[in-house]
Amino acid sequence: MSLIRKSAAELGALIAAGEASAVEVAEAHLDRMAEVEPKVNAFLHVDREVTLAQARAVDERLRAGERLGPLAGVPIAHKDIFTTADMPTTAASKILEGWRPPYDATVTRRLREAGLVILGKTNLDEFAMGSSTENSAYGPTRNPWDLTRVPGGSSGGSSAAVAAYEAPLSMGTDTGGSIRQPAALTGIVGMKPTYGGSSRYGLIAFASSLDTPGPFARDVLDAALLHETFSGHDPLDSTSIDAPVPSVVEAARQADVSGMRVGVVKEFGGDGYQPGVLARFNEAVALLESLGAKVVEVSCPSFATALPAYYLIAPSECSSNLARFDAMRYGLRVGDDGTRSAEEVMALTRAAGFGPEVKRRIMLGTYALSSGYYDAYYGQAQKVRTVISREFDAAFHQVDVLVSPTTPTTAFPIGERADDPMAMYLADLCTIPSNLAGNAAISVPCGLADEDGLPVGLQVMAPVLGDDRCYRVGAAVEKALESRWGGPLLKEAAAL
Ligand code: GLN
Repeated sequence: MSLIRKSAAELGALIAAGEASAVEVAEAHLDRMAEVEPKVNAFLHVDREVTLAQARAVDERLRAGERLGPLAGVPIAHKDIFTTADMPTTAASKILEGWRPPYDATVTRRLREAGLVILGKTNLDEFAMGSSTENSAYGPTRNPWDLTRVPGGSSGGSSAAVAAYEAPLSMGTDTGGSIRQPAALTGIVGMKPTYGGSSRYGLIAFASSLDTPGPFARDVLDAALLHETFSGHDPLDSTSIDAPVPSVVEAARQADVSGMRVGVVKEFGGDGYQPGVLARFNEAVALLESLGAKVVEVSCPSFATALPAYYLIAPSECSSNLARFDAMRYGLRVGDDGTRSAEEVMALTRAAGFGPEVKRRIMLGTYALSSGYYDAYYGQAQKVRTVISREFDAAFHQVDVLVSPTTPTTAFPIGERADDPMAMYLADLCTIPSNLAGNAAISVPCGLADEDGLPVGLQVMAPVLGDDRCYRVGAAVEKALESRWGGPLLKEAAAL
């Protein structure tokens, strides 16, 4: 089997056994990228020489007898919102075009320490604001299943790269669903760890109380292996959790749900959901029951208020975070010809450097935080957030995990929702509650919708620091479905 078809675990084992070198594996993926990138556009920055130099260094470390983890030498696509000292970092914004960060994010550093080889930086919605990757200043990424459709977002470059076999693994960030939703739309696995379980240091901030780095992979075990590589306490991130956590790799290997209590969220389903999505979801629930889980319906009425609360909290935080792009410290500077004041240069730069969705959010957030409106908007949204967290707590007294479809529909056509922010925002209806409450949640493929033959995701939500449960349930579903399908869902990305 060619190197690009193998899982990350298999590649790591081959490299550890000396049957393939990190350089060979990187070259195979760089060749695949050269072949499919003209169609997919998953990457913003690729530098073959930089990647091969990393791979050579890993081969050297292994030859010298250094003990690296199970993913040593395995290539990875990295979302272009994590700083990388050897590659540009733009967050897909014109305001950071060509910016070279002086340091690596903690996540980047840990990937390198574990011997992963960074293939390039992937496309995203500008500053991770969006659900389709159409808000990138550098053109949209296309869904490998159907090149006329979106790969989800904001981590759409990372999801498409893995689905198109350009990389066995990738990194994403999830603020309102940006890992789980693109994973669902491209037929792969995507995990949002517990907030604080993965470091935000060196991650370009969108909404700091929500931003969470997490893994993409084609199977649950690979996602777990990657998760253990970059996660864990980081003193450089003030909201990082310093607590022991159960092994997610162990949990993925267990793949056992017998005796587990699974709650189906009553509010997620019905009107506005694609029939083919609901059909696959209901089958997955029946499957969990047949595997020995005890399934009950759980009502979480406040989840319906998560979307409006999110669209006050996230823009508020973004309006504050993005103030740092002031034409003085980073990237773009427009109109600095000696005749203008600093304020004029800032205004011209921000007008030219930010795209329309980013501007919309900055304006919304500034309004929600302004004196006189603060209590009515931002303050109210924070109260809703507390109610949602309490509802999760109550649900997790009743059940071990909650399940729902990851998204109401399969991948939508490029352009369909671009001019309709509300329609776009609804793609994250089911994912946002877990961001507001900070709990763990995963999306695993659960089949193809009858209407369009496109992938459907099952979302499994677990309590704060219960990440292992997501992997345990996800792996059980994956194992059962693969034996039913006679192999993985993603055999070949059909459109390539
Ligand atoms: N789609 C949501 C938004 O636009 C979530 C984005 C994300 O998780 N980064 O805000």
